[in-house]
Amino acid sequence: MTFINNELPLDWLLSEILEHSPDAFAVFDKNETLVFCNTKFAEVFTLTTEQALGMAHADLLRHAYHNDSNINIETQDIEAWIADVKTHHRSEKHRVFESDGKDGSWVLISELIINDGYLVVWSNDITELKQTQLKLAEALEKIQRIAAIDELTQVYNRRTFNQLANVELKKSLRHKHSAVMLLMDIDHFKQVNDNYGHANGDLVLQAFAGLFTRSLRQSDIFARYGGEEFAALLPETELEDALALAERLTKMLASQSIDLIDYESVRVTVSTGLCRYEGSDDSLDKMLIRADAALYVSKQQGRNRCTLYTPDMK
Ligand code: GH3
Ligand code: MG
Ligand code: MG
Repeated sequence: MTFINNELPLDWLLSEILEHSPDAFAVFDKNETLVFCNTKFAEVFTLTTEQALGMAHADLLRHAYHNDSNINIETQDIEAWIADVKTHHRSEKHRVFESDGKDGSWVLISELIINDGYLVVWSNDITELKQTQLKLAEALEKIQRIAAIDELTQVYNRRTFNQLANVELKKSLRHKHSAVMLLMDIDHFKQVNDNYGHANGDLVLQAFAGLFTRSLRQSDIFARYGGEEFAALLPETELEDALALAERLTKMLASQSIDLIDYESVRVTVSTGLCRYEGSDDSLDKMLIRADAALYVSKQQGRNRCTLYTPDMK
């Protein structure tokens, strides 16, 4: 027998540590029979150590499933689930995997094959780590959303529009699909602010964004491009169809009464410029310049209208 300090027997010390550890610990022999476990391990399977010892690995899992243990076995077919476990089991000399409990806890399970066939299994509680990871992932998602979306109108902002539109244009080029850019600027919007106040101006922007969001397709990219300027990229759309859609939306907006605070309601109009994606020599920046030139013509010609870009509009 090995002693520490000539006083403490090492095997006694180890068994004390194992028994009082908050982590589960077990050993299976070559035939998958449980030959050693601490109380914690047996408890995980809703058993005492005496009951657990001598049981087969698969029987332990079956027992846990049928006796409402904390192990989160999400299946209607426990035999299929066990068969799947067996495909991973002993697949590597040292295997580490995560497992969750019904109570939201998480453990990291280590399996180590020793002595030509004995399988040593132990767990570490990683609940706090997992919860922190989860919170971080949620926080990251929130930050990404805040960075991508315009807070007032809840549509994409300019940065996201540029990112997504560039991806979409690459796709259009690869698949030789048409795509159309719309640049929209609300008419005399300064007057809305001046006549009804900034808060009502904000309501108009929200109503405008809502109308377009509802009317465009899921695959269309719509964004608030600046103050009262909005942009849309319509993939897989022909210029004539885009123009028809833009004209329909222009009419819809002009006929819509937008409810205001402290005032009855207001109607606004929009001027739009449209241009088509011209393929490999074209780019998002070039399209924005052309759409803006067409938008300028809409303004010049009296607003509340849509204009297709033509090369004479430089
Ligand atoms: P035009 O028909 O030529 O486009 O005239 P306009 O008045 O719409 O254009 P102008 O560029 O002179 O005014 C745009 C106004 O939009 C000025 C600015 O204060 C307002 N604006 C920009 N962002 C916001 C916002 O977030 N909320 C509100 N309420 N107003 C905004
Ligand atoms: Mg403007
Ligand atoms: Mg304007």
